[in-house]
Amino acid sequence: MKPVYEIAVVHGDGIGPEVCAAAVQVVKAALGPGSPLHFSEYPAGAEHFLKTGQSFPEPTFQACREADAILHGAGGLPGVIHPDGTEAGLDFTLRLRFELDLYANIRPVRLFEGVPSPLSGVKAGDIDYIILRENSEGLYAARGSGALLRGEVAVDTLVQTRSGIERIARKAFELARQSGGAPRDGVRRVTCCDKANVLRSYAFFRSVFDEVAKDYPDIATEHALVDAMAMYLVVKPGHFNVIVSENMFGDILSDLAAATVGGMGMAPSAEIGAANGFFQAAHGSAPDIAGKGIANPYGTILSAASMLDWLGHKHGDERLNQAAARIRRVTEDCLANGLLSTDLKGRASTSEITRSVCDRLTAGRD
Ligand code: ATP
Repeated sequence: MKPVYEIAVVHGDGIGPEVCAAAVQVVKAALGPGSPLHFSEYPAGAEHFLKTGQSFPEPTFQACREADAILHGAGGLPGVIHPDGTEAGLDFTLRLRFELDLYANIRPVRLFEGVPSPLSGVKAGDIDYIILRENSEGLYAARGSGALLRGEVAVDTLVQTRSGIERIARKAFELARQSGGAPRDGVRRVTCCDKANVLRSYAFFRSVFDEVAKDYPDIATEHALVDAMAMYLVVKPGHFNVIVSENMFGDILSDLAAATVGGMGMAPSAEIGAANGFFQAAHGSAPDIAGKGIANPYGTILSAASMLDWLGHKHGDERLNQAAARIRRVTEDCLANGLLSTDLKGRASTSEITRSVCDRLTAGRD
């Protein structure tokens, strides 16, 4: 337990500042006066790049590395690019992942009471699984190091290491052990999602996964090819408990999964390494709705709750775990009572949702 936890806050671009400010307010309301969290803001992202030529200033990196946790809104703006065509605003997230070795990207997918799903016949509780995205290697490890030959041939390399696959597979089994199993049958199950039938690197991912699985005989295992998985997440989402996959596949599947539980605004995530934790919703900066006050803040609020849980477990600080549980409970209540943003077919603004969540947290504190 520490007297003060330093939180590095980076608002980012588009709706990033709107949802990030909401999450900070909610955390403050949950912990009340005497909160042990200290928030410091640092610049990074596409807007900062346009102003200064730097997308991720070195002092911001140092502060993030030394902080107890990092909280981010969202980064990137289309058209704000490096000479190689990649987005400058993504440097913050991607550099943190690779340089702080945030290998486990935990993305819970859950349909809450009151939230409409585009899938027919599903109700709250029918969808409740985790996509565990390997976050430090895979195809995205080639970021910044691919080759373009004479304007004719472009190459990016997919990297999978034994140690990288082992640790993400172990994480998947540990998450399954802590869970209540799949909604449909209550079975604790890890699904290895790959493309082992086509590429050697994915066949290797599967074989190392199978080796690790032998250490967890209490957890059911199965394999699914990623293309079939895109279909399964629509036709039988209740079957899944924990899905583990390579970096890019996890990125793509998590947008599909988010759509089934209300959209990108309902997609929290936690990116964890041995030492650092980085928390942001799974969505991007959504420039189409930025500045309108209608961004859905629930994903970032739930990511901030994961931050409190992670800090609480790491430092044995029950106050933080209790605050995380209260944020989750209040969030569920608000959604069930129809406090829905426009993406959820409601009318509540970002600030109305934030105020209501904060008021309920403050009221329930004493
Ligand atoms: P990235 O690749 O950086 O993750 P993306 O291209 O997947 O970004 P997003 O920014 O995630 O795109 O958003 C896709 C669309 O989803 C947006 O245009 C927006 O309409 C919607 N969206 C995303 N996040 C939210 C949110 N918090 N609230 C409401 N709508 C959102």
